[in-house]
Amino acid sequence: MSEITLRNVCKSYDKEHYAVKDFNLEIHDNEFVIFVGPSGCGKSTTLRMIAGLEEITSGELWIDKQLCNYVEPKDRDLSMVFQNYALYPQMTVYDNMAFALQIRKVPKNEIDQKVHEAAAILGIESLLKRRPGQLSGGQKQRVAIGSAIMRKPKAFLMDEPLSNLDAKLRAQMRVELADLHKRLGTTIIYVTHDQTEAMTLGTRIVVMKDGFIRQADAPRTIYEDP
Ligand code: ADP
Ligand code: ADP
Repeated sequence: MSEITLRNVCKSYDKEHYAVKDFNLEIHDNEFVIFVGPSGCGKSTTLRMIAGLEEITSGELWIDKQLCNYVEPKDRDLSMVFQNYALYPQMTVYDNMAFALQIRKVPKNEIDQKVHEAAAILGIESLLKRRPGQLSGGQKQRVAIGSAIMRKPKAFLMDEPLSNLDAKLRAQMRVELADLHKRLGTTIIYVTHDQTEAMTLGTRIVVMKDGFIRQADAPRTIYEDP
């Protein structure tokens, strides 16, 4: 069971104002938590602090029973999918997807099976030999998701992972992500400003404004209450 807890977490990039202020949230195993709110309200900053890509100014981040403020990103056992899909340009799609397992010395045949499984789910089997430069934005995004789901981390962190897809593919990927969450039985923390994504995917919606949490509740409560 993994649990991610943020306690009074604050972030200031400069002395004048806080990007995130007094952020308190307990994320339980298997939740699909969605951060929503207007541009600049602190969604990405919060996700990046959980990932360890941004230093926490004050407060505490706990992952499982460990205080993680100063734990290196690679030691947090989280998988990330960000908008600017961090694919290795010199590697094939196959090797991009296999990389996280290769560095963990997973046996080759096991890696091969996992790559092909994930590629089938995402409909990118025919792209395995290409390099990222030979892919469309939507294809790259699917490869990034494929790379992230190769192993089962404590949690997936996703920042607008579907933003670059056309409407049809986005709708299809929403279904895939919901299915993935169900099948993997894992925690997902997800940033979007797409209300349909939030409503259909989230088990809990965290509404942010000006660095604060305005409301955190089930989608039904957030979107159906006047
Ligand atoms: P969101 O993801 O909700 O759009 P961000 O977390 O990106 O919001 O930004 C929150 C606030 O922090 C904004 O006021 C933004 O301008 C500021 N901010 C974000 N990144 C940086 C940075 N690297 N340096 C300075 N300010 C930043
Ligand atoms: P073989 O020698 O039998 O081809 P490989 O390990 O090269 O064994 O390939 C097995 C499967 O994994 C094939 O389906 C192949 O497409 C895929 N594969 C392995 N490595 C790569 C790679 N670097 N790029 C693309 N596909 C790969």
